[in-house]
Amino acid sequence: METFEELDDWHRELRSHFPILTDGPDQAYLDSAATAQKPRAVLDTVQHYLTTANANAGRGTYTWANATTALVERTRTRVAAFLGDPAPGRPSGVHFTSGTTEGLRTIARDWLPGHLRDGDEIIVPFADHQANLLPWLEAQQQLAGQGVRIRVRELPYDPASHDYDHRALPALVTGRTAFVAATHVHHVYGGDMNVHRIRAAVGPDVPICLDAAQSVGHLPVDVGGLDVDFVVFSGHKAMALPGTGAVWARNTRGAAFRPGGWSGTPNTCGIASLEAALDWLDAAGTDRIRRWTTALAGRLTDGLRGCAAYRILGCQQSLAADSTVQRREGIVTFRHRAIPSNDLGFVLASHGLMVRADGHCQGRAGESESSVRVSLHAYNSPAEIDRLLAVLRSL
Ligand code: PMP
Repeated sequence: METFEELDDWHRELRSHFPILTDGPDQAYLDSAATAQKPRAVLDTVQHYLTTANANAGRGTYTWANATTALVERTRTRVAAFLGDPAPGRPSGVHFTSGTTEGLRTIARDWLPGHLRDGDEIIVPFADHQANLLPWLEAQQQLAGQGVRIRVRELPYDPASHDYDHRALPALVTGRTAFVAATHVHHVYGGDMNVHRIRAAVGPDVPICLDAAQSVGHLPVDVGGLDVDFVVFSGHKAMALPGTGAVWARNTRGAAFRPGGWSGTPNTCGIASLEAALDWLDAAGTDRIRRWTTALAGRLTDGLRGCAAYRILGCQQSLAADSTVQRREGIVTFRHRAIPSNDLGFVLASHGLMVRADGHCQGRAGESESSVRVSLHAYNSPAEIDRLLAVLRSL
């Protein structure tokens, strides 16, 4: 309650920046883990770029081409700074992608095989998003075709909290552990996966790759504090245009990350939108965004726990933002005990409540049954949560 009162003015002002929300007040967009809505500053930047400087980047010597090349280089530095990199470009680097899936796949295809030797082991998550599992398995297969055998081990989970089992992890680490992939915030259970604890378990030399699809733009992400080697995210989930994303690479453990092949024309207006989105997020304050979305998630979990018909997946309660055990960020996933989740999704849609109801692209060890996911961003309001709860209670 305190958070809502304290941040009420901030939230009202901020919500007014989203034309799609102010033009459709009867709709509640509760699917920001899939993609986020765009503030006017991002839309205006795209319009401005396309009407004043649209050209290709890294080619041509005329004004618009130079402006576009400068935009791309400036946004690389902007992404690194947004992630807390104290010295962008020295030796770290930023590579633009269409999203997290392409980013992780590029690391698995262009960097990982050269880093691994016969008999090496990698530790990867089997119940996170499949975008953070399939590329590593594909790399293993590709290497097997060349006679290089890699052992893939499962990053252990604590079944009660759905956090990683950080106590079990050290026992999995051997002298051959060469790479770890993890997820910052779980896209189904909404838990902060306490990835800052992984470095101590794996030692100083093992590269760690972080899927930050659900954290960048939602909470402060600091590559220094996390001591990871890759941060991969989707710009479109951080309020930039669809088809945007980036890989930040530290480039100090193993070879430097140099995506192979000719990648062609970059998504220049997407990159312009990403720069504007990061500026907007910094001005809004990712620490306040986190407080707000955590409070909204708390309101929803508290409301659902009062209804016997619903079961929340993952950690059953919204833990305080300063919890050292596990925090639930702005994602709450649940099932009705009798109504199939897909049907529930249709019912909620008929009330203008836009949620996701399916299996959420979870990896091999994920849930076998679909569920309803409510995922929040700074623009969502307590009134929207109350509307949702009223409909859920009425069923
Ligand atoms: N990882 C996680 C944790 C995600 O939530 C998602 C998107 N749901 C992805 C990866 C894939 O992102 P994209 O579709 O932007 O490639």
